[in-house]
Amino acid sequence: MGSQEVSSTVDWQGKHVTVAGLGVSGIPAARALHERGALVTVVNDGDDERARAQAAELEALGITVRLGDGATLPPSTELVVTAPGWQPDKPLFLAAAEAGVPVWGDVELAWRLRGDSGREPAPWLAVTGTNGKTTTVRMLASILEAAGLRTAAVGNIGVSLLDAVLGETEYDVLAVELSSYQLHWAPSLRAHSAAVLNLAPDHLDWHGSMAAYAADKGRVYEGNKVACVYNAADPATEDLVREADVEEGCRAIGFTLGAPGPSQLGVVDGILVDRAFVANRQKQAQELAEVTDVNPPAPHNIANALAAAALARAFGVAPAAVRDGLRAFRPDAHRIEHVADIDKVRYVDDSKATNTHATEASLAAYESIVWIAGGLAKGATFDELVTGAAKRLRGVVLIGADRALIREALTRHAPEVPVVDLDRTDTGAMSEAVARAAELARPGDTVLLAPACASMDMFTNYNKRGEAFADAVRARADESA
Ligand code: ADP
Repeated sequence: MGSQEVSSTVDWQGKHVTVAGLGVSGIPAARALHERGALVTVVNDGDDERARAQAAELEALGITVRLGDGATLPPSTELVVTAPGWQPDKPLFLAAAEAGVPVWGDVELAWRLRGDSGREPAPWLAVTGTNGKTTTVRMLASILEAAGLRTAAVGNIGVSLLDAVLGETEYDVLAVELSSYQLHWAPSLRAHSAAVLNLAPDHLDWHGSMAAYAADKGRVYEGNKVACVYNAADPATEDLVREADVEEGCRAIGFTLGAPGPSQLGVVDGILVDRAFVANRQKQAQELAEVTDVNPPAPHNIANALAAAALARAFGVAPAAVRDGLRAFRPDAHRIEHVADIDKVRYVDDSKATNTHATEASLAAYESIVWIAGGLAKGATFDELVTGAAKRLRGVVLIGADRALIREALTRHAPEVPVVDLDRTDTGAMSEAVARAAELARPGDTVLLAPACASMDMFTNYNKRGEAFADAVRARADESA
């Protein structure tokens, strides 16, 4: 069966399906396919205690599980359903390609099964990009809710798409976050409308090249019905719209932090305005919300709000709901989160800034900054980031394994900025980082944790890193109270 021919109406009875990867997407996929009569084999690289317990549960249902070998394709396989993170050059996929066996990711499976509930499937408004996906999808869901629509923020955001499309709850529309990995494995996805927020090098080890990464992101526009939303400040996103094969009548809609041209959303005198979804876009603009309705009103976040608004407007949402939805939106933790003010210094946790593109946005949001940075660089270079921010840096405190890379960039491009280099990676290191940052800060400054690096050298994940920062800040606030 070719990947295009299998539809939601496929008779799964007796089909040999191999599910690659036990995990958040693999287990529900295996169950859903088994329930439909498919002969499911789950293959998994790991063979630890947790995998064995999960395997036992699936085996009790009659599903075959092969632990410790995710490389070999079971001979009778007619379809592979993979966890999105599996590297595309794995032997399993090479074998599938050779045998002409299609490979679907979790998103493709959800897309194909979405009609199975017997209800009219909800259209998808999709968001991808290097940074800002989660924030934008949550803003979008908040706007759709304010419009009285039944919706949920789903996808690469903690809520499985498969659960959303097969579950009991009925939706009018879904706000879907998609990663580049998920898009890679989703050949037939056709969104109502979609946005690519920005494109900067990330995950290149997985995709193999920037071109391959961009091409996978661009898949989100394929077959769009109403709008392809792009970032007017990031021409690479507009190029992807141009290359996409969309439905007749689908429009390219730009968002910009400046005054919008026709078919764009933008900002005029502190007001978010729509010059795309109005009767006469040559002469008319529709006020949507004030910049201060966006929480927090940092430039990159206003861009996220405009992208969310564009998708909502493409779906027919009224301007007042855009405003109400943005006002009701609360950012997730560790994303430019204001922790406390101590001695007229603001402390902000942007632990989620795990790459230089995100950190650039966050450094652009404040005038005078004591920057806490460092961790695992994942192959990144820091020259451009430091050059762009040099004027706004009061000082820098460096932590983590790859801090020397940032220090060298600072020496090259901002030699006058004082740098504290913390040579310790124990759990108390963050308290010392905060203490040293407080020494460098002057009233009116912002102490900003925006590491530009992954956290796993010192912490379990970015959440724990952010919590360590916030705990240290709160302890200081209590002392000074
Ligand atoms: P994602 O889901 O794409 O990882 P998030 O909304 O969780 O995005 O934000 C991740 C980080 O990226 C945040 O810490 C923030 O600093 C930064 N960020 C958010 N929106 C943007 C944007 N539009 N451009 C650049 N950086 C952004």
